[in-house]
Formats: sequence, C-alpha cells, structure tokens
Amino acid sequence: MALVMLKTTIAGSLPKPAWLATPRQLWAPWLLEGQALAEGKRDAVVLALREQEEAGIDIVTDGEQTRRHFVWGFVEQMEGIDFSKMVTIGIRADRYKAEVPTVVAPVRRRGPVHSDEVRFARASTRRPLKFTMPGPMTIVDTIHDEHYRSRADLGMAFARLLNEEARELEALGVDMIQLDEPAFNVYMDEVRDWGVEALDGAVAGLSCRTAVHICYGYGIKANTEWKQTLGSEWRQYERTFPLLARSRIGGVSLECAASHVPISLIGLLGDKDILLGAVDVASDRIETPEEVAAVIREAMKHVRPERISPCTNCGMVPLSREVARGKLRALAGGAALVRRELMG
Ligand code: ZN
Repeated sequence: MALVMLKTTIAGSLPKPAWLATPRQLWAPWLLEGQALAEGKRDAVVLALREQEEAGIDIVTDGEQTRRHFVWGFVEQMEGIDFSKMVTIGIRADRYKAEVPTVVAPVRRRGPVHSDEVRFARASTRRPLKFTMPGPMTIVDTIHDEHYRSRADLGMAFARLLNEEARELEALGVDMIQLDEPAFNVYMDEVRDWGVEALDGAVAGLSCRTAVHICYGYGIKANTEWKQTLGSEWRQYERTFPLLARSRIGGVSLECAASHVPISLIGLLGDKDILLGAVDVASDRIETPEEVAAVIREAMKHVRPERISPCTNCGMVPLSREVARGKLRALAGGAALVRRELMG
C-alpha cells in the first residue's frame, strides 16, 4: 500500500517568467497587454504546474501566476472599492508602506472572481489542486476604509464574499482552499476579537480541505529587519494557535525552516493539519533534502506524520526561477526521505 502521509505542497506563489512580469519584484507590473497578457498568464500557469509536478510536489497550485499581488487578485474585482482613490498607508503595523485603494461603499462581488482561473488550472493537472486567497484580516490591513469605519465589520463583510467565492471554487474541483493571513502574526488581539471568527465565516459550509497560511512574510528587506526585532524565540503562534485549534479551519500553514519559531508550538493546534514550512524563502541557498527531512522529523516529535504536509515557509514569487525549482525538488526529496524511513 502506498504511504499517503507527508504530501507536499507550496505556500502558493512561484516566480513569474521574465516575459510575463519583472522578475524578483513584488507588485511587478505586467509586461504584456490585452490578449497577449491573457495567453501569457495561462502559459505561465501551465509552466508552474509542470514544474511542481516534475519536482514531485503532491498538492499543486497555479503558482499565483495570474495575479500581481496576493491581496489584489481578489480585491480588484469587488464593488465598493475605489482604485482611483489610492492612499499610502503603513501596513502590518507600519512595517512597510503600501499604496492601497479606498473602500467607499458596501463591498460586494460583481460576480465570480477566480472561476476561469480555477477551471483552467483544474483542466491542466491531475494532481490535487490548492487555491489561495487573502484572508479577511489581511485584506482589511491592506486597504484604506472610509465606509465601514471598523476593521471587524469590514473583515466580516470580506469573510462573506470570500465564502461565496470559495463555495464556487470548491464546486469547480478545488481540493484545498487556503486563506493567507500574515496579519495574524501582527495583530494578536484582533485575531482573538474577530480574526478567527472572520476566518471561520470564510470557510463555512465547505467540504474541501481548508487551511490558513500564517507566516513572517516574504524574504524582503523590511521583513528580515522586522524579524530581527522579534527576539530569539518567535512566540506569536502561541497566542493564535489555541484559538485556531477551536476554529473551523482544517489546517495551518506555518513557518518552521530557518526560523526562530519553537517547533513545539505546533502541539497547540489540536487535530489540525500542519502545512509545515520546511523550506526557507528568505534565502537563495537551496536546502538539501536532508535539511528538509530534519525539519519534518522535528515536527513529528509533536504531531503524527498523517497530519503533516511539508510545505514552503511562504510564497516564492520574489525568488529566481532556478532557486525556486531547486527548493521544490529539495522539498519533495526531503519528504520522500522521511516517507522511506516510516515505511522501514
Ligand atoms: Zn507567507
């Protein structure tokens, strides 16, 4: 019998090809237009799927090749948000500045947002497909609000819209829906007050697998500097994990490779699946499969291997394609090493 444990996946994004967007840059503008852009995005999705399959990744994503930024893919399609009213604000507790649009009226979906992308990705791979969207709190933190005047109310409004969207994507054959909530590592009081409730609202009624991704950010300068202020042990998860253990979410994607997160904290997640960050995205150095395996073995001291999906720490969009490809192979290779050990 084939051992099905330790199925690998990635946080979500992969680098975009140089003909589609400027490499190694967040929010990179598209280099194509019109029909050529639509076609270019689809070609990039196929490449991203093939690269994951060839590396041996089990649960694949579209590499987020069709969106400029992980928050905007969803938000750009909403009514009630004025993209001509851009405001510069400090996001993630002022860790970095971002130019963001303004909420001017109740937010609503104009219609399906990601259906076409999911149909295309679903038809382009036989592997289980994961699809990522921004979580409610992270959206709220990446937008300027002049209508709701309450982060909780705006968050709950987005949770309802994300849920409408998620139900449609599930019906199109998505196997796992993941909400990205880096804001959960910044606003711990808000996570307790409304963040988990909003997350639960976003995944209500879904029968596919669900997960929330909570990381310490892409490997960019502002994040690396922020991490240096967090002390020798990063214990943010200690406050959020017990709340998530009681939530509706199916799994938690977290950062464990080359981080200062005490790995024992995953023991606080109850019976949730662990999408275990076993590959660092803040370095160009490609891990060896043995290094990945070491992180998995550490995690197995706290949770059963059936609950572990080895994963990347965060999105790989700021990396070079060559480095990302190497890291995919290391991830799959490390999981295979541990699987072989478990099979004796
Ligand atoms: Zn992340």
